[in-house]
Amino acid sequence: MVSGMRPTGRLHLGHYHGAIRNWLELQHQHECFFFIADWHALTTHYEETEGLSEHVFDMMVDWLACGLSPGASVLFIQSRVPEHAELYLLLSMVTPLSWLERIPSYKETLEQSDRDLATYGFLGYPLLQAADILIYRGRGVPVGEDQRAHVEFTREVARRFNYLYGRESDFVERAERILDRLGRNEARLYRQWRRDFQEQGNLESLGAARELLRGLQSVPMGDLELLDGYLEGECRMILPEPQEYLTKASKITGLDGRKMSKSYQNAIELREEPESVKKKLMGMMTDPARKRRTDPGDPEECPVWDLHQVYSDEDTKAWVQDGCRSAGIGCIDCKNRVLDPMIEELRPIRENAQEYLADRAGVLALIHEGCETARDVARDTLEEVSAAMGLSDE
Ligand code: SF4
Repeated sequence: MVSGMRPTGRLHLGHYHGAIRNWLELQHQHECFFFIADWHALTTHYEETEGLSEHVFDMMVDWLACGLSPGASVLFIQSRVPEHAELYLLLSMVTPLSWLERIPSYKETLEQSDRDLATYGFLGYPLLQAADILIYRGRGVPVGEDQRAHVEFTREVARRFNYLYGRESDFVERAERILDRLGRNEARLYRQWRRDFQEQGNLESLGAARELLRGLQSVPMGDLELLDGYLEGECRMILPEPQEYLTKASKITGLDGRKMSKSYQNAIELREEPESVKKKLMGMMTDPARKRRTDPGDPEECPVWDLHQVYSDEDTKAWVQDGCRSAGIGCIDCKNRVLDPMIEELRPIRENAQEYLADRAGVLALIHEGCETARDVARDTLEEVSAAMGLSDE
């Protein structure tokens, strides 16, 4: 699994419920690479780099405080692994310009943003994202619905690369020879699943065959790549095609009813003190139709209701629905029911963050280790990519 986050400084509840909680689960289920995407920040905010390195540090402190563990996942900073940039450059040689121009978010952001984004870096950022994933041969990318197009684009780039550089004249013969060396049962299953996929497009069979390959630990990596490519066609899978891993993210609305975002100044930060959380929550927007305590309201029109979806049990939610619609409860009562669980959720994160902040050298050492681990993996991929493109002596 590979995923990144732009460095916006201290994290808020939107980050926590939108991504981090999923990452906390994933880190115990998969091999995970999580990175702070500081180069991506430059694709749009190249004029505002003041404080960038501190934002990166703050984000890492909050990741650690939330429970992302360097023992369970690789936590690192994108710009400290220059192999991302090298792969980005190599992939740029084979990526048609039209593929980048037709990415749905490109034209939209270009037209709507008040920044000057008519830059090469902004046009190319989906390719940098592709390199971020492919450099770790990421199989899964935890994304929300709105980012599916980027993962699809990454697949297209990988497919084109493999087609250009993974074809070999004796490919089929070599694949069949490797299959002959496998156990009889494994070879039979592989052939059956390959046929199911190629003749009927059965994706479950493709997944089962890939799972089988992952379990063949005594087979050399190069042979596994070849068999992986043979499942779908007749070229070696140098850069595997990733799949989107759709995550269930809870929507956390900001204090003003818009998406929670630091730039809207409507966020509750993870390190926020209880008094400040209370003050912000009590000032949070409610159903605009409920001007007086005696006016009935509609939770569907109220951003506080979104918070109840995250923090409240079914009884409390029923209490809100009845009480709001009948004006039986006031908005302060309603917000108080969210306040306690929110403060309880934030308490350990805030305490952990204080400990990490008191040990800056320790955090920097963890960052260094994570970057080195990421680089080891990235170098392996890059060596193979370079060799396939004719750039190495081997
Ligand atoms: S009672 Fe609760 S749900 Fe209804 S408007 Fe007030 S804060 Fe919103």
